[in-house]
Amino acid sequence: MTITGPRVRIAPSPTGEPHVGTAYIALFNYLFAKKHGGTFILRIEDTDATRSTLEFEQKVLDALKWTGLSWSEGPDVGGPYGPYRQSDRKAMYQPYGQELLNKGHAFRCFCTPERLEQMREAQRAAGKPPKYDGLCLNLTAEEVTAKMAAGESSVIRMKIPTEGSCDFHDGVYGDVSIPWDSVDMQVLIKGDGMPTYHMANVIDDHLMKITHVARGEEWLASVPKHILLYRYFGWEQPVFMHLSLMRNADKSKLSKRKNPTSISYYSALGYLPEALMNFLGLFFVQIPEGEEMLTMDELTAKFDPDNLSKAGAIFDIQKLDWLNGRWIREKLSPEDFIARTLEWASENSRLTEGLKLSQSRISKLGELPGLAGFLLSNDVGLTPASFAGLKTNPAETLEILQTVQADLEKMIEWNVESIDAELRAISDKLGKKLRVVTPPLFVAVSGSSRSLPLFDSMALLGRSVVRQRLKIAATVVASMVGSAA
Ligand code: GLU
Repeated sequence: MTITGPRVRIAPSPTGEPHVGTAYIALFNYLFAKKHGGTFILRIEDTDATRSTLEFEQKVLDALKWTGLSWSEGPDVGGPYGPYRQSDRKAMYQPYGQELLNKGHAFRCFCTPERLEQMREAQRAAGKPPKYDGLCLNLTAEEVTAKMAAGESSVIRMKIPTEGSCDFHDGVYGDVSIPWDSVDMQVLIKGDGMPTYHMANVIDDHLMKITHVARGEEWLASVPKHILLYRYFGWEQPVFMHLSLMRNADKSKLSKRKNPTSISYYSALGYLPEALMNFLGLFFVQIPEGEEMLTMDELTAKFDPDNLSKAGAIFDIQKLDWLNGRWIREKLSPEDFIARTLEWASENSRLTEGLKLSQSRISKLGELPGLAGFLLSNDVGLTPASFAGLKTNPAETLEILQTVQADLEKMIEWNVESIDAELRAISDKLGKKLRVVTPPLFVAVSGSSRSLPLFDSMALLGRSVVRQRLKIAATVVASMVGSAA
């Protein structure tokens, strides 16, 4: 197969709710491919088996499809360099680990987790950054063979030069120099035979003929390891571009503690994908004020990857709201508007499921908006009065809201059964009955004390909307605790 234009990729790890940062990096790559007649690929990086799930993978695919981006190769569409899910490629990585051992670029490390923890502890105590100390570098071939024969578990680590620095050019950061002594002897193949992110990422980028690696700035410090791997294998390295992170208005890294970060939150609230992409695309173009409203084709035409800012992409929700409003008012015909609204209301079957849950609870259809409207509403209007009728006092209510908010984060699956089980476990942990724990949550998610069943409502609203409502509820109740004191 002849490669014509550049080949770029988005390589999400399916370890959580799809993040707007993933849409931001995906959009850059998509525009880059479109601008240069290249190919945009989706690869699922699920080497972290303990945190990756198929449910999150599906959510990533759904969320990226919702944004309107499309990819020419990926786990769902196939392609000439598949499979496109790293866990399906496990066997492909093994020979590369062996090749590096044979060439003397890597070594087997038998250090136990306990020893590594002691080593890190000593480094911390001495004020040094944690880094493998190279103990197993000194093992002789005979010692390695004997340990293997004795069934000792081992990982494969890469060797790192002891002197000098790794100098490279980054498409955004320009010339970068990172001293080798700050680079860790990275584990490449874990004890269970799975590669780590670094190993799989480089091998896959090579095998998938990726020409340009555009990703978040958090990976800049990993480039020396990656470049070294390209050198060890004798492969040509891609062009690197590290995009500045999305940030909150106060310049801190965009995090769900401050702003909702899930793509699904924005779709659930009725942001148009075109508006979200327009908003994210503005970080990649230079345009005069007043010309902010751009379609994907206009973004492609104005896309300017050579003039990217390192300053950080501020996630300014007010600007997003402003753009979204303009898209709704100016770009949708009345027919489109109606069709889009119905499509939005039906998202994740929330309309039909909400109606099913409502049927046994109303005597007139006109009661529906009051009863089930919270499933669609972007603000349930929580005030201290919303929580006043509860049996728990504000301090107890706050404890419940905060504990639930923190523990729901750790849930892997999000459905009626898992929410039910988790809330029971949380009640036990708090030493309270479930019927004491649920009323504050009921108010937090629905805004009212008379509403649809809690677990079903939470499942329909989705994790990211529930998280945000619990957060708002906790803020409201915290003000009550403050004033009660
Ligand atoms: N799996 C990595 C992530 O989710 C990809 C980083 C890269 O593009 O190399 O951030």
